[in-house]
Amino acid sequence: MSKSAAGTAENPGKNVAAKSGLNKAILDQGWREFRPQLDYKTAWKGGMLFAVPPQYTSQTCPGCGHVSADNRQSQAVFACVECGYENNADVVGAINVKERGHRLLACGDGALRLSMKQELAEVSQLSS
Ligand SMILES: [Zn+2]
Repeated sequence: MSKSAAGTAENPGKNVAAKSGLNKAILDQGWREFRPQLDYKTAWKGGMLFAVPPQYTSQTCPGCGHVSADNRQSQAVFACVECGYENNADVVGAINVKERGHRLLACGDGALRLSMKQELAEVSQLSS
């Protein structure tokens, strides 16, 4: 997020000063402290925080579980090539993150890792 926009001598970047200011503002926010604070405040209010692996959440169909990059027609549109399920891609990602959180709560870390392994195996079978 805070990558330099300076570019190279042959190909200089645009709006370097503005990007530099944005970088300073981003780095001043202390993002590293965000996660522990979120964990602390959530527990303080009686909630629970689960960090789930985000891989393939926007490529996995919540209807049938099919994982494919082809499910993403565009940045905003998700359409499953297997069962025809359609929704906004961000909504699909949120559904999958929520589902992984529920799996983590119900079955623990081991079950989530096992299901992620199966999803990754499906993806590597499709790409080979
Ligand atoms: Zn599907």
